[in-house]
Amino acid sequence: MDMTRRDMLKNVGIAAGTLAVLGDQAMAQNAAQPPPPTGSPLAMSPPEKYTLGPLPYAYNALAPSIGEQTLRIHHDKHHAKYVQDLNSTLEKLHEAMAAGHRDQMDHLATLAAFNGSGHLLHSLYWENMKPDGGGKPVGDVAACIERDFGPPEAFTAAFAAMAGQIRGSGWAVLAWEPLGRRLVVCGVEQHQNEIFAGSKPLLVCDVWEHAYYLDYQNERPRYVETFLGKLVNWDVVNRRLSAAQA
Ligand code: MN
Repeated sequence: MDMTRRDMLKNVGIAAGTLAVLGDQAMAQNAAQPPPPTGSPLAMSPPEKYTLGPLPYAYNALAPSIGEQTLRIHHDKHHAKYVQDLNSTLEKLHEAMAAGHRDQMDHLATLAAFNGSGHLLHSLYWENMKPDGGGKPVGDVAACIERDFGPPEAFTAAFAAMAGQIRGSGWAVLAWEPLGRRLVVCGVEQHQNEIFAGSKPLLVCDVWEHAYYLDYQNERPRYVETFLGKLVNWDVVNRRLSAAQA
């Protein structure tokens, strides 16, 4: 059976479209690796390893909006664990498929979708923030926001409302929806659920408690307001938009 890593991810529910944004710095290392040869039996082509890229800035660069301790734990512990678990899960999935253990495949595929989407979203998250960022959108995305949401304040209100209503753990995501060729705001549950399939994330905000609890305790709205007001890197969002529209 021919099953490359990319096919495997498609099959376990990571929207194929999201893979198109892997060109970002943190994922470039993986994207640069050649794909496994096609036509190889599954047992002869174990999955490639995913790697954790460095933060694109110093650990204290976003303070006081997001403190150094939060970034260290979030990147070095939480994100690292998603990458580690993605690799071990894909290895087990590969073994289960090779051995014909279909009974294990459902559970492993669910875990792969969770950890793989976690790796992807965190990689996007680090890069769509910068020190002294935030404020009104600029460039092409500003025009799309105006068209699809109205004035910048209407978008900010929609994004903040979505971030606020996610029960438990998840992400607020501004995405390019390719069928209607428009922007949408999604509330992603955990890392992998409730996103418009095939849409490409342009701006993602982690609202798991580990993203903000040390700095904001239970005040998620204040964290989201700071994210939008002081951290968003609109240049990165514009770059993702033009790649998504291509
Ligand atoms: Mn997180």
